[in-house]
Amino acid sequence: MIAQVVPILLAFGANLDRADGSRSDTIAAAQREIAEAAGIERFRASPLRETVALTPDGPDPEAPRYLNGVALAETTLSPHSLLDLLQAVEARHGRVREVRWGDRTLDVDLILYGGRVVADERLMVPHPRAHERDFVLAPWLDLDPDAVLMGHGRVDAILRRIGDSTLPYGGDG
Ligand code: ATP
Ligand code: CA
Ligand code: CA
Repeated sequence: MIAQVVPILLAFGANLDRADGSRSDTIAAAQREIAEAAGIERFRASPLRETVALTPDGPDPEAPRYLNGVALAETTLSPHSLLDLLQAVEARHGRVREVRWGDRTLDVDLILYGGRVVADERLMVPHPRAHERDFVLAPWLDLDPDAVLMGHGRVDAILRRIGDSTLPYGGDG
């Protein structure tokens, strides 16, 4: 049987530097690892953008800022195997799960897996909060100006509605 090839959208975020590298180093290394993993093809990352940290109480200008980006790719992995890969990459980059939406060295979310809907205790796809996040939608538009988010329509229209607080990122230091 020929494995099915499915287009996917991944979102990356980091707001803490590590002892051995900056936020952008962490994201670049994570993207390289995913791009080279078995079952991942045609990986294409967006430029990075910088955003104020979002906490359960709202935006926190005092918290370390986030770098965010997205990537399009194709996969032959199942949705849950892909999540295993993303979580292994997070763990390798020092991700520690503590408070919800707390500071982190690396977050990798699965936003879309083809046209599939997955809703179980481990995985929700399409990502249920993607449509309210400028830090996902803005870099996605950088890669694909005609992007459409399943269930929510054109990404340019959503972003106009919610507003875009992201800033282009020119590099650390
Ligand atoms: P948010 O989901 O609002 O972006 P978060 O990324 O900070 O929050 P995490 O602590 O990274 O949340 O993940 C919590 C759990 O979410 C993970 O253990 C994972 O099983 C689950 N999860 C559900 N849907 C997804 C998805 N589409 N991508 C990544 N993780 C998901
Ligand atoms: Ca997330
Ligand atoms: Ca996550």
